[in-house]
Amino acid sequence: MNRKVRFFIPLFLIFSFLSAQETPLKALVGGTLIDGYGSNPIKNSVIIIQGERILAVGNQDNTPIPENAEVISTEGMSVLPGLWDMHVHTMINGHADYDYWDRTYPPLFQDVIMPASAQQLLMAGVTSARDLGAPLEASIAVRDAINAGKIPGATLYVSGPFIQHKPYPGTEEFRWGVNGPEDGKRKIQKLAKAGVDVIKLIDQDQMTMAELKAVVDEAHKYKLKVVAHGHRPEEIRRGLQVGVDCFEHTGLSSAPAYPDDVMDMIRERTAQMNLGPLFWCPTVEGLYNYEYVRDNPEKLDNDSWHLGLPDSVVTDIRNSIKHPDQLPYFQLTPIRKPTLRTKIRQLMDAGVVLLVGTDSGIPMKFHSQSTWNELDVWVNEFGIDPMYAIRAATYWPALWMGVSDDVGTITPGKYADIIAVNGDVLRYISLLQDVDMVIKRGTRYK
Ligand SMILES: [Zn+2]
Repeated sequence: MNRKVRFFIPLFLIFSFLSAQETPLKALVGGTLIDGYGSNPIKNSVIIIQGERILAVGNQDNTPIPENAEVISTEGMSVLPGLWDMHVHTMINGHADYDYWDRTYPPLFQDVIMPASAQQLLMAGVTSARDLGAPLEASIAVRDAINAGKIPGATLYVSGPFIQHKPYPGTEEFRWGVNGPEDGKRKIQKLAKAGVDVIKLIDQDQMTMAELKAVVDEAHKYKLKVVAHGHRPEEIRRGLQVGVDCFEHTGLSSAPAYPDDVMDMIRERTAQMNLGPLFWCPTVEGLYNYEYVRDNPEKLDNDSWHLGLPDSVVTDIRNSIKHPDQLPYFQLTPIRKPTLRTKIRQLMDAGVVLLVGTDSGIPMKFHSQSTWNELDVWVNEFGIDPMYAIRAATYWPALWMGVSDDVGTITPGKYADIIAVNGDVLRYISLLQDVDMVIKRGTRYK
C-alpha cells in the first residue's frame, strides 16, 4: 500500500509537469482590450493563453491568473487581435521597376523574397495576410513553411497566379491567361488541387462573359472565393454580374467618382441580405500618401524593410526609389488623390463592407509599414471611425476568409494572434506603426 502511494505520487507529478511543459500558459494582464467585435474595450484586461490558443478573456476582477502562467504586463497598452492585411504582394518589396524585378528576382522568390515579406508583415503586427498574385509553387511552399513553424511570418492565404485574359510578356509564371471557358475551368481546377486559398482575378472586362462565368463558377464549386480588380467600371459591372466575392482597389484612374449605373448595381447587390455583405478592399494608402512620401522621403530610410533581405537586394531597391518624384508608377497619382475620399464615401454610403488591404510591395511601399498607414488614412484623413477600421483589419477579414472560428477576434478557443502597443489606439491609430508586442498562435515574436 505504502509503496503504491509512493509510486503513484511521483508519477502524477511527472505527468502534470509534462503537460505543463507541453502547453505553457501565458497571461497578458492590465491593458485595454479591443477584442475585434466592436463593442466597448475591456479595461484592465486579462487574456490567458494556453499553448497556441486563448483559454480565457476577462478583466482583473473576474479572471484569475493561473499560478504557473508567465505573466506579461500590458499595462498602459492597447491590446488587439493580430492585424490582417487583405491585399499584399509578398513577391515584391517596394522596388520601382516591375519589369526589372520580374526579370531578376524570381529565382529568389521562394527562399528569400517572399519569406522576408511575410516576416516583415509579422513584425509589423500583421499576423494574417491575403497574398494576391505570385508563382503557384512558391506561394504554397512559403505559406506551408510558415504554418509548419519552419519560418517566422504572417499566416498567408494565397491565390497563386493572377487569372486574367492574357499575361503580360515575361510574367507567365505568376499570371495565367484564360483562353476559352474550358481553359478557364482547367486553370481553376489546377489551382484548387494545388491548394490555393482564394482566386485572384484581374482584367475581367477583357475576358468573354462565358470565360468569366466559367472561372467564377468553377472557383465556387471548389469553395474558393474570388477576389477581383475593380479598377474600371466594366470590371465592377461584370464582377457583380458573375458574383465575385470581393473587389480590390478604388481604380477609375482620375475619374472623379463611380458612375451612377455602377452605384445602382452596388446598391442592388448590398440590398440582397441572403448573399451576405459586399466586400471591398480599397487599398488607398499607397496612392493617398504618395506626395507626402515624395516630399518627406526620410521614412524610406527606416530600415524595418531590410529584414530578411540580402544587402544587394536592399541596395537595388533603394537605388530604384532614389527619385520618388520621378517614378512613372505614380505620375497620375496627385490627380487621383482627391477622388479617393469620394469613392470611399460612395462605397460606405452604399453599404459595402470595407476591408483593410494595402497592395503592400508596390513601389516605395514596404511590408513593414503599409498596414498601419492604411488604417491611419482611413481614420485621420477620411474620418472613418477607428473601431470600424480595426474591425476591417481583424473581425471581417477572418470572416471573409472562412476562418473566423480560429482567428479575427480575441475569444476563448481561438488562436492567440494578439498584438499590443503602448497608448490608446482608438485615439491615436498611428501608434500601430510600432507595435510593442506580437504574438502569433501563442508564440511571442516581438
Ligand atoms: Zn495588388
